[in-house]
Amino acid sequence: MAAAGGADSRRAAARVAVFPLPFQGHISPMLQLAGALRSRGLAVTVLHTEFNAPDPARHPGLDFVSVPDAIPETVAANGIAKILALNAAMEASGHVRGALASLMASASAEREGEPRRLACLVIDSTLTATQKAAAGLGLPTLVLHTGSAACFRLFRSYDMLHDKGYLPSTESNLDMPIEELPPLLVRDLFDPSKLPNKEIGQKILNLATETTTNSSGAILNTFEDLEPHELGMIRDELAPKGIPPFAVGPLHKLIASSDGGDTSLLDQDRSCIEWLDAQAPGSVLYVSFGSVVHVTQDEFTEIAWGLANSGKPLLWVVRRGLVLGVEKQELPDGFESAMEGRGKVTEWAPQQEVLAHPAVGGFWTHNGWNSTLESIYEGVPMLSRPVFGDQLATGRYVADTWKIGVLLEGVLERGEIEKAISRLMDENAGVEIRGRAKELKEKVRICLESSGSSQQAVDKLVDHILSL
Ligand code: UDP
Repeated sequence: MAAAGGADSRRAAARVAVFPLPFQGHISPMLQLAGALRSRGLAVTVLHTEFNAPDPARHPGLDFVSVPDAIPETVAANGIAKILALNAAMEASGHVRGALASLMASASAEREGEPRRLACLVIDSTLTATQKAAAGLGLPTLVLHTGSAACFRLFRSYDMLHDKGYLPSTESNLDMPIEELPPLLVRDLFDPSKLPNKEIGQKILNLATETTTNSSGAILNTFEDLEPHELGMIRDELAPKGIPPFAVGPLHKLIASSDGGDTSLLDQDRSCIEWLDAQAPGSVLYVSFGSVVHVTQDEFTEIAWGLANSGKPLLWVVRRGLVLGVEKQELPDGFESAMEGRGKVTEWAPQQEVLAHPAVGGFWTHNGWNSTLESIYEGVPMLSRPVFGDQLATGRYVADTWKIGVLLEGVLERGEIEKAISRLMDENAGVEIRGRAKELKEKVRICLESSGSSQQAVDKLVDHILSL
């Protein structure tokens, strides 16, 4: 049925295409953004690779188009270089351009007398190939940044970091504060020179800058009250270039699960919730390192004993492949009896529901940005153990800027782990951290009210899309 009002009919006449990077931490925010645009009246088509394809049945309001062969088998297991390999494969095959061209043609034929024009393509910030394909067809692109505003700035600052001598890092400058980017220290930087192939690292860092520069707007999964300073700086930098930024986060709360907010690629173990129901309020430490981080066998053993020795009830996600080179990891001998029934180990949890559960009192996380936002939304304080990339800077912000967590640095060792858990969860030690996490929880709720900054940013984004 055609929408009645002017603005409504303009929305009803526009379609947006989105193309996520095919990994959990990138697919989720893109599908959440797609759902939010859909709920504002735009039609949305999700273009996706066959690898890690989302399940259309879980997102009935969205249309899905699989782009064939865009990711070769080898790419899936190819370290961070897989992003470059994916872009190369997409450019070589021409399939993205083909998919967009046919979408543009069918969009204009969609409704008799009132064509639904394809207004733009929203891409993951790393997918340069999709942007080039769109540009070749005269289709504008918007870029979704799935990390924090702080990391957005950081990734654009690498020339400065090299010019001022912070990078390449050395053993002696790791604790040097970066004056231009407080509260970061040199050790919080993703340093491409430490990778086996420096050039690949530098190229990956440059992708987001390139796509943003060539875009018609930057969408950030953060909110004003969380990163006011960083967002102000981004605005000052991008506005003269005619690239408006939109802080629309936390995206996972812009739409309800029943409206397509369930974006997990793996089946989630619902028995976690029953188990949590039987635990005391605020007592449980939830432990998960997201979908891609690995630990070594030794680290896994130290983690297990640190957790057991902490004496806290524990819900631990040991996903397949978490331990380097091991498909299905066994728990150390004696671990289960040491836990004395206080623990539950699972392969994949319904994380958002877990964090919302009153029994959960702390979250040991790798500080992937989605996990961090999910924890902030529920007011759960964090034990931060960032591993690579933007996680390092996020861990520093959790501990030093927002002061809603404890940063676990250095070699993973059971005694240090036990102490860090106690600093986070014990009644007296973690009281201030818990208080600040609750304050931030109030702020995030305000930004999601209808007059809140993130809802207004989505409205502005929709107006911007319609103006393209
Ligand atoms: N997640 C989940 N179940 C788990 C562990 C993680 O559903 O057992 C989800 C989590 O809610 C988050 C995503 O996986 O939305 C992980 O994204 P994040 O950016 O935190 O980390 P990444 O996996 O990209 O490193």
